[in-house]
Amino acid sequence: MTDDPTPAPCALCAAEPRDEISHIIPAFVYRWLKQSSPTGFIRAAANPNKRLQDGPKQRLLGRACEDLFSGWENQFAETVFREVHHKRNNHLNFSYGDWLAKFCVGTSWRSLAYLLEAKPDVVLPFGHEAAARDALEVWRTYLLGGSRFIAPHWQYFLILDTPTNVPNEADRSDMTTFIHRGVDIDTMHAPDECYVFTKLCNVLIVGSVLDANPRQWQGCKVGLSGGNYRCPQDFRVSGCFTKYIETALDQIRQARREISTAQVEKMTATLRRRHSSAAEG
Ligand SMILES: [Zn+2]
Repeated sequence: MTDDPTPAPCALCAAEPRDEISHIIPAFVYRWLKQSSPTGFIRAAANPNKRLQDGPKQRLLGRACEDLFSGWENQFAETVFREVHHKRNNHLNFSYGDWLAKFCVGTSWRSLAYLLEAKPDVVLPFGHEAAARDALEVWRTYLLGGSRFIAPHWQYFLILDTPTNVPNEADRSDMTTFIHRGVDIDTMHAPDECYVFTKLCNVLIVGSVLDANPRQWQGCKVGLSGGNYRCPQDFRVSGCFTKYIETALDQIRQARREISTAQVEKMTATLRRRHSSAAEG
């Protein structure tokens, strides 16, 4: 068997070869996680046994499309991500241009394309494949400038903080870990709803794949030509949002139960090594 010398066409424009192995989640998110971790390693919140140095990567785009994404990513990193994570400004108010919609659509498109390509055998619940293909095509056309519209596949944007009303201390700790440090891509489904969730630490981007009642989302819809983000504000969200958080917390609890003694010892040794080299230096 020989390797096929012709790379597949770029998943976005189809006009160039897929020659870029790129991050599905922007690299600056992982850089921050690494910098702010006491061990210097990234552990996926939902899987503490596994070191996730750089997050999932995939050969999805060509060079021109990768450059297109990086322009919106840089703007988002400067205006939002740095403020929230490096300066701990969780009550961020900011005005935005069309770059926020481009960034959110690009993020949802890349997450959904990755999930569908990485797991071709997985069947989406409630027959949501057709809606997912439609969302991908609408977002793709918008990103390439072929259309100025994304209806009905809207984007929702939230900066999350730990809720104050979590009674149980263990739940509160899991919730805090997930809200502040969780990086995650997933789809959530109900019979007449489907969304792709991309969580970049405190930032959550929700791409609507199918939604019989878009009015249930209030205060977090991204304006295509720009707008003002005001935080905190009275958000209203779909029940799928609650289901998403609960599912993630279940995974964290499960992973914590499975964390091995050896893994704890390895973490302790790393901390000790870093500590002693810091003391020497
Ligand atoms: Zn391309």
